[in-house]
Amino acid sequence: MTDLSQPAADIHTEAQPEATPASVAPPLWLLAELTYRCPLHCAFCYNPVDYTNHNRELSTEQWLGVLREARALGAAQLGFSGGEPLMRDDLEVLVGEARKLGFYTNLITSGVGLTDKRLGDLKAAGLDHIQLSFQDSTQELNDFLSSTRTFDLKQRVAASIKQHGFPMVLNCVLHRYNLPHVDKIIDMALAMGAEYLELANTQYYGWAHHNQAQLMPTREQLEEAEAVVERYRRTHGDRCKIFFVVPDYFERRPKRCMNGWGAVFLGVAPDGAALPCHAARALPGLVLPNVKDMPLREIWYESDAFNRFRGLQWMKEPCRSCDEKENDLGGCRCQAYLLTGDAANADPVCDKSPLHEKVVDVTRLAAAAHEPREQPIMFRNDANSRKLTGAHAPQNKVQKTAHDEPNDNGHTRG
Ligand code: SF4
Ligand code: SF4
Repeated sequence: MTDLSQPAADIHTEAQPEATPASVAPPLWLLAELTYRCPLHCAFCYNPVDYTNHNRELSTEQWLGVLREARALGAAQLGFSGGEPLMRDDLEVLVGEARKLGFYTNLITSGVGLTDKRLGDLKAAGLDHIQLSFQDSTQELNDFLSSTRTFDLKQRVAASIKQHGFPMVLNCVLHRYNLPHVDKIIDMALAMGAEYLELANTQYYGWAHHNQAQLMPTREQLEEAEAVVERYRRTHGDRCKIFFVVPDYFERRPKRCMNGWGAVFLGVAPDGAALPCHAARALPGLVLPNVKDMPLREIWYESDAFNRFRGLQWMKEPCRSCDEKENDLGGCRCQAYLLTGDAANADPVCDKSPLHEKVVDVTRLAAAAHEPREQPIMFRNDANSRKLTGAHAPQNKVQKTAHDEPNDNGHTRG
């Protein structure tokens, strides 16, 4: 197994070329994960299962500094995410600063806490776009999957978002429970006047990885859903643009994850850890630099975490000599680790990987399984996070911070 706690040059026979502003493009988008707090408890949440270990949040001033540095670095798009970003009462301040800096801003929200007043204030602050998540088109499943009673509230919030004149993406994460409802989910998006509908098949990281046996669909379910989407695209494509994000477990080649490690995406977690990928916290040994200790420019161009899987030099066989490596860049590092135990392996979704059977086994099990599943769903909440944290050791490292003290914003949670 590749030891990510060792510097890259000690591991590979071909040392990574040094990244410089001349050889590496700047980040295009910044994802500000403002908090891990969330009133919902989704079974497929992509947040790390050990999020309760990383809940000391950056202060308002620290976030403002991150936005300024990221914009100076070249980032142009900014997503405010979480957890639920509305849990931060300084969201409007951050949106206002982002607007001044010239970012295109998107709020990624469950809708809980998005009152008329906050919508008005966010509009005044210059927010460009809102992505509202639903769990399903039915109250029963929406509320079951989020372990909350939020379906009616989300309906009201969707109407308010439109009344305030925001462009709206409706987002619904798909899995074996709601794939048969895809037509109803599209009807709901059309009725709400959403400009875009993102039907994102579950990516198996974080809580979704833990609940994979419960959530994994069958190939038949996916094919039927895709056919429904195609039908709607033909008939309603001018009213609502529908994105259908295919789950790569059913493909023969992996996704070009994040469009390349350290290529366009820069995430900052609630505690200031900088992430080359949403799920990078899952990689044991990887030392994540922290915005409290290092300028963002240095993090992007010089940190080991961002250089570790940049480009093609880090690859092992079969990727190293593969004539398709420029297409998919070897797939997803986090998926490679979660399924093969080594983040430097080829993503086992690829059928050239000697470990491809691991992916086939997962989909085969899904096809053979009958409801109800033996293992109960583990909903995302603080108690389950604490319970699972020991079970997912070893955890990755976060660079020790010199300023690791309670923030001035009252957002620290125990
Ligand atoms: S996926 Fe659900 S639980 Fe996770 S942050 Fe989003 S709304 Fe909250
Ligand atoms: S062997 Fe590696 S580079 Fe080649 S197609 Fe598979 S994942 Fe991509």
